[in-house]
Amino acid sequence: MSAVHPKTILAPSDALIIVDVQQDFLPGGALAVPRSDEILPVLNGYIERFRAAGLPVVVTRDWHPPDHCSFKPQGGPWPVHCVAGTAGAGFPLELKLPEDVRIVSKAEDPMQDAYSGFSGTNLSAMLRALGIQRLFIGGLATDYCVLNTVLDALRKGFGVFLLEDAIRAVNVRPGDGERAVARMRERGAVALQLKALMP
Ligand SMILES: [Zn+2]
Repeated sequence: MSAVHPKTILAPSDALIIVDVQQDFLPGGALAVPRSDEILPVLNGYIERFRAAGLPVVVTRDWHPPDHCSFKPQGGPWPVHCVAGTAGAGFPLELKLPEDVRIVSKAEDPMQDAYSGFSGTNLSAMLRALGIQRLFIGGLATDYCVLNTVLDALRKGFGVFLLEDAIRAVNVRPGDGERAVARMRERGAVALQLKALMP
């Protein structure tokens, strides 16, 4: 018989981190992640829980200059995506972000890519100032920005819950998403689903 896991209860030192849920990563976008629209209602469920508990909701966003080094015309691996100020860099209307959402922009340096929300941003300082110790992380894409944000968070000493029902992978190589999840769990991230979060 498998053990019954107790439901996870939100604590005052918890924050929700939604990684790069932007139009260009959704179906029809410049760098669409397969089935990424499926996570929007699930993320809304998490947002509701965090709002009800009065806990911070943070969104990161790719916020590139038009000549960013990760773009194909500059010799990078990706099509042009999430150029700062364009519609493709915007958040989808279906994502019910609270009014006091905290937005962290990343990868603004044309010469440097930044898959992690901690890379070159004030995210760590912001979370420390709020007394946050545990992060609940979901978004796009599992095998790039979610992976690197989770690994950085663990390195910085945060507890991490990986929202496994609110992530989707690019899967440039088949299995990239699964390997990324395995890596995050090996390093100490705890997989969580919305139904296991105490209302
Ligand atoms: Zn990017």
